[in-house]
Amino acid sequence: MVHMITEHFTKAKSMVFPREVLAGHGVMSSAGDICVSLGLGEKALLVTGGRTSSIAGRRVKRLLERKSIEVRMERTGAATEANLDKLFASASSFSPDMVIGVGGGSKIDLAKMTARRCGASFVSIPTSASHDGISSPVASIKRDGVSCSLDGVMPMAILADTEVISRAPYRMLAAGCADVLSNSTALRDWEIAAEAGREGMSTTAYVLSRYAGESIMRDAGRIRRYDETSTWLAVRPIIASGLAMGVAGSSRPASGSEHLFSHALDSLRAGNAMHGEQCGVGAILMTARQGRDWKPIAAALKKLGCPTTARGLGASDEQIVEALLRARDMRERYTVLDRKPLTRRSALALARRTGVI
Ligand SMILES: [Zn+2]
Repeated sequence: MVHMITEHFTKAKSMVFPREVLAGHGVMSSAGDICVSLGLGEKALLVTGGRTSSIAGRRVKRLLERKSIEVRMERTGAATEANLDKLFASASSFSPDMVIGVGGGSKIDLAKMTARRCGASFVSIPTSASHDGISSPVASIKRDGVSCSLDGVMPMAILADTEVISRAPYRMLAAGCADVLSNSTALRDWEIAAEAGREGMSTTAYVLSRYAGESIMRDAGRIRRYDETSTWLAVRPIIASGLAMGVAGSSRPASGSEHLFSHALDSLRAGNAMHGEQCGVGAILMTARQGRDWKPIAAALKKLGCPTTARGLGASDEQIVEALLRARDMRERYTVLDRKPLTRRSALALARRTGVI
């Protein structure tokens, strides 16, 4: 028997994907061809760093110019609002069709936000892979010393050249792996938010993010220093994790309470660790708070050579406890910290139980 449809169907969803994702040996040499084949235009603002311009920025500039694309190269620094303003001023006087980020995470984030502000296409050419922002529409920009998560644009193309990335300091790749290793914590927090009726889930984004986290977990023992095969193993899940955010339309699939903990450490100016390293330790703590087994995460972090303790992050025991208490208020995001709020006493016990302090 056929039932009559009495209500109109009203669901709608949008997913944003890049049009080209190239990962592997020597893919940077395709930069000019890709921009032409995607019809990205004739003027490119190339955002790079001091060191990364000699590693890759100048090479990409030549590749584009060979295809008759006019290039303005801007060397910039950290991902701060002041540097973003300078880049936007340059973009305003140049009117680029595309903004190309060539460098580490901060250059990619600045390029992503500049593209968003001036309405240009964005191309991501990472020279290191220290977090999953190399392939996501979300950018982390520092305002008054505190990192803010902002909506940028999804890259039209991602060119992750393993030959180039494998030459970056190993600590960066390990931090990128730790960032993605924390996805299982973020995904459990997403489920907790859904169970509380706070948010809907996207199965596609969930599965993509889980695949990324599980790949790093599986291969953590095979990732070696300055080895292109290892870079290949690491960079694909790092890219997949960023794509999951594009599918979900938010950082939700890859950012939960463990990221809130990292933001809290930033706000305390505690330690000197990288984003991914902080999220890795956050994943140990928050997985335990979720009532799940945190030991496989700690073991994988150790295999990668990432910190698992306060001392490893360069933070004091008191700063870890303070960050645990502050984490819940870092942004509007329902997590295990809302379901089971921490007190000073329970935060101290959590940090001790997991061996973080
Ligand atoms: Zn992250």
